Amino acid sequence: MVQEEGSAIVPEITCQEVVQWASAYLDEHVSDEQKRRIVLHLAICAGCETYIQQIATVRDAVRLLPKTEEQPSELHRLRQTLGTRTRRASSGG
Ligand SMILES: [Zn+2]
Repeated sequence: MVQEEGSAIVPEITCQEVVQWASAYLDEHVSDEQKRRIVLHLAICAGCETYIQQIATVRDAVRLLPKTEEQPSELHRLRQTLGTRTRRASSGG
């Protein structure tokens, strides 16, 4: 007689899957079951626990940074406008 045990147990996930689910997990965009698997894996895998913590730290840092993307493009536009105004005045005539 063969008794198969384990069909009711939540299947474990691999380190690779934890990496794939890292941002979704931090955003809480995972199902309760998925979250449970990740938490279980982090409990037994120090490497993935550190990885998740690092991602969380980086995300927090990025959130605190001010948005300064539009300033450089303004300068760039100004430069281009000045550049197009320069014309050749010495033409054959
Ligand atoms: Zn792992």
